[in-house]
Amino acid sequence: MYRSHTCGELTKNHINNTVTLAGWVHKSRDKGFMIWIDLRDRYGITQLIFDEERTSSELMEQAKNLGREFVVQITGTVIERASKNPNIPTGDIEILVSELKVLNASLTPPFTIEDTTDGGEDLRMKYRYLDIRRNPVRENLVFRHKVAMAVRNYLSERDFVEVETPYLIKSTPEGARDFVVPSRMNEGQFYALPQSPQTFKQLLMVGGMDKYFQIVKCFRDEDLRADRQPEFTQIDCEMAFVEQEDILNTFEGLTRHLIKEIKGVDVGEFPRMTYDEAMKRYGNDKPDIRFGMEFGELNDVAQHKEFTIFNAAELVVGIAVPGGNSYSRKDIDKLIDWIRRPQVGALGMVYVRCNDDGTYKSSVDKFYDQEDLANWAKATGAKKGDLICVLSGDTHKVRTQLSALRMELAERLGLRKSDEFAPLWVVDFPLLEWDEETKRYHAMHHPFTSPKPEQIELLKTNPGDVKANAYDIVLNGNEIGGGSIRIHDKETQAMMFDYLGFTPEEAKAQFGFLMDAFEYGAPPHGGIAFGLDRLVAILGGQETIRDFIAFPKNNSGRDVMIDAPAAIDTTQLQELSLKLDIKA
Ligand code: ASP
Repeated sequence: MYRSHTCGELTKNHINNTVTLAGWVHKSRDKGFMIWIDLRDRYGITQLIFDEERTSSELMEQAKNLGREFVVQITGTVIERASKNPNIPTGDIEILVSELKVLNASLTPPFTIEDTTDGGEDLRMKYRYLDIRRNPVRENLVFRHKVAMAVRNYLSERDFVEVETPYLIKSTPEGARDFVVPSRMNEGQFYALPQSPQTFKQLLMVGGMDKYFQIVKCFRDEDLRADRQPEFTQIDCEMAFVEQEDILNTFEGLTRHLIKEIKGVDVGEFPRMTYDEAMKRYGNDKPDIRFGMEFGELNDVAQHKEFTIFNAAELVVGIAVPGGNSYSRKDIDKLIDWIRRPQVGALGMVYVRCNDDGTYKSSVDKFYDQEDLANWAKATGAKKGDLICVLSGDTHKVRTQLSALRMELAERLGLRKSDEFAPLWVVDFPLLEWDEETKRYHAMHHPFTSPKPEQIELLKTNPGDVKANAYDIVLNGNEIGGGSIRIHDKETQAMMFDYLGFTPEEAKAQFGFLMDAFEYGAPPHGGIAFGLDRLVAILGGQETIRDFIAFPKNNSGRDVMIDAPAAIDTTQLQELSLKLDIKA
């Protein structure tokens, strides 16, 4: 038996008990005649004491030689502490050690194993196993486990079955590049790692599984944007014999349950907003609705004067920044610099100060009078003391820019509170999305998404206007999940592939298995997938998903601890019939 108790459980009730503990040497204080050691394990810290009067000189010597992070096993008696520590559960007691065994020595760790460590991100990632010994990292992993268990229990209680789907597959198009794996036994051929289990979960519906879920790794070879991981985890779900309404209700239930179970917060019925409305009101298909600052479109009240910049714009749109009139000229100049950064890309910004006496002062006073500005204030909902920020240009671009500004200002104003939860559904996404680069339509969600049945005809004339039975679930400005009702007949699916520019041969080669399955009694079905990493981070009140992943990759997609990816040797390449022709 390595231990009778953990380092987190001994209290006054155990006084005079003989106990055996095992753990890491967290800290030691050596006063010469007395030595205290904090012994740590996953469950907490227990103080050990060695003193000249009660401890043998041999044991004193042993204790003196213990270094930080040594792994030790001790046996001793629980005694009451002279100076108590009310901050930890074991703070009333200490162990007078009678036996000590070093189970393993340790080098001095490259950073301190404390809640706030002196280790930088790179160092912590290189020695992630030491980082995991720190409370905040360990707590995040335990938290993630709790969320995953709550999901499993909830879905399992509702007849969902967790089914594993394969990782070595063929391309599933979710809009990213595939990671590929060469097949040794099939020369010159490759598997693709799943970007999601999309086609398999649909085949499970054809197979009659009715309700499926899986907490599953997905792989997408994308240029890494901040806080994305090449491998990430989804809560992937699919149901048969459902309409959009059934899916929304089921997974609204799951999300509400998680927020209640994990955070103790009751959220009411989720608002629903169409994609068009979200874009118009927030410039964003994942609006953060914890705060206002809604967009006010100003074309009608800003394009009737001689201000050519506005007159030439497709959209003139503004937001009212609460209390923003207190910004100095310098503050506003800084804001303008901020939106001009290439990441946001606006050319400039017009602003209006809403004075306390009801008058306005704008950066375009030459063109607009008080009545005009009062109209702008009305359209943006600006009040006395606010600042109206106005951008103009191409509709989509300007919305994206103003949305970035809205989020930034809300962050600065402390309006994005991590203990507030504002979920919503965004519905009626466009089916297709025009891609300037390839001059082609792409599926906005994925090619298996069903158009709104009543709009199928519209596909022929105005494909860009067709809406899909597709929905996203949004929490605090993050898309935490998305899904759709699927096409379940061969003809519609073939038509979709055709619109997406696949020849019938290409469609058959890539997705013949799915279209074949649709000919054997495929039930109507639909589903959704949540991004578990992000969901956990938001529920944990934090922004970075890396903090909730045991062994994350860095921004260049590298695991710096195991040093992957790495070259493979020539024999391995030969076995895989691969030739590398890279000039050094
Ligand atoms: N497979 C989709 C995704 O990964 C989710 C879904 O449509 O259920 O986004």
